[in-house]
Amino acid sequence: MARGVLQELYDRLPPGVQDMFVATAGWRSYRARFGSHFRANLRDISRTDFLDADEVRADQDRRLAETLRWAADTVPYYRELFRREGIDPAKIRSVEELPRIPFLDKETVRLRGNDLLSDGFSSRILIPGRSSGTTGTALRLVHTREALGWEYAVIWRQRGWFGFLLGDRFAGFGGQPVVPFEQQEPPFWRSDLARGRVLFSLYHMKPEFLPYYAAELRQRGYLFWQGYPSSIALVCEYLLENGIDLRTAAPGAVFTSSETLLDFHRDRIVQATRAPVADRYGNAELSVSAVQCPEGRYHVDTEFCALEIEPHEEGPDWVRGEVIATGFANRAMPLIRYRTGDVATLRKQVGCPCGRKRPVVEELDGRIEDYVVTPDGRRIGRMDHVFKDALLVKEAQILQTAANAILVRIAPRPGYGPDAQARIDREFRARLGRDIAVRYELVDAIPREANGKFRAVISSLAGGRLRAPADASD
Ligand SMILES: [Zn+2]
Repeated sequence: MARGVLQELYDRLPPGVQDMFVATAGWRSYRARFGSHFRANLRDISRTDFLDADEVRADQDRRLAETLRWAADTVPYYRELFRREGIDPAKIRSVEELPRIPFLDKETVRLRGNDLLSDGFSSRILIPGRSSGTTGTALRLVHTREALGWEYAVIWRQRGWFGFLLGDRFAGFGGQPVVPFEQQEPPFWRSDLARGRVLFSLYHMKPEFLPYYAAELRQRGYLFWQGYPSSIALVCEYLLENGIDLRTAAPGAVFTSSETLLDFHRDRIVQATRAPVADRYGNAELSVSAVQCPEGRYHVDTEFCALEIEPHEEGPDWVRGEVIATGFANRAMPLIRYRTGDVATLRKQVGCPCGRKRPVVEELDGRIEDYVVTPDGRRIGRMDHVFKDALLVKEAQILQTAANAILVRIAPRPGYGPDAQARIDREFRARLGRDIAVRYELVDAIPREANGKFRAVISSLAGGRLRAPADASD
């Protein structure tokens, strides 16, 4: 509720004042992300970047043992679990021995969230987070400031591989609704120049506005771009369709994250920018992290997490299945053997031409996010973010069958009513405007695809000018 009201107030401010808000929010999160822990961790993991495979394992096992000890000592859920299952965490000395601990699924996190909190912290100093999950299952999460510092250390280690330093000027294409939806004139971005970043709105990327994006990107020249691949690809599609060459304003690299990096998005980005695209796989739970190196392979950040695969399929050199993650960074809410709901393919052998010996994720098979197209031609991805705060929604799915209408299927939890729906409707309107009819249908469950996959968005719209090619990876 508060967030919706604040968003409405923010939307009425002039762009210059909105810049100040973005900068203030930027400063607050900057301090949380880039404090002394960030610097210490970045120094630490810069030293471990090129360890031998044995040393990588030893380093990871040491961090795992610390995490298990901490969980056993301070987290009620694990104290109880270890007692009930007769598990002595001190006897689990390596990632290979982790399977003695049962999986932790999202429903358990939702139901037992409070028991998963470490009693080693005062709740006052913790930072709330929310995960929408890919199925729209909202989880109440908390993390420490240090955990954020940790995450940004692995992010900036990757950026360092491509020659970038903290403070370098970059263009951000994340999901923050920084520009009011009704705004019809540029700028469609907000600046936080003290932090070297300019945030572009993802919700104004329609054909008549894209020329402004292109002009801004070309005129100012950002050292790198980062954000959702589907959104960066829309800008790139526009540049390519109109023969716009970025020349010296081309970014030195494009860092993507937060959704599956699809081949057709990557191709468009590379064609338009001629820059390397480096993806990151992480999650809001701060339990997993893997980043692409300059050779294009994903290396697990073994200082940050342990990544296991629950096999669905297996070959001589690889194993594919659900990612089971154990995060080391977040002492406030340690998640051990957490079922992420993501699917990935892990190589059985380590080794990469880049020289790093950390495990290699061959492919992220994770869910394919679709777009919703507004009547005026904007293409909006990551609609699952609408349900980020909707704790009374078990699952949701969007069906778009016409340019001006979507049907939202909601599988509610007890207590779901008009208030909850009004909040969801506000989130939809902030992203899609008022010209699209949104109908709601309450259902017991959302049906799965023939291959067992859950889809957040199903769109049957015929191709438009900016329509991406049909997904070829399924
Ligand atoms: Zn590599």
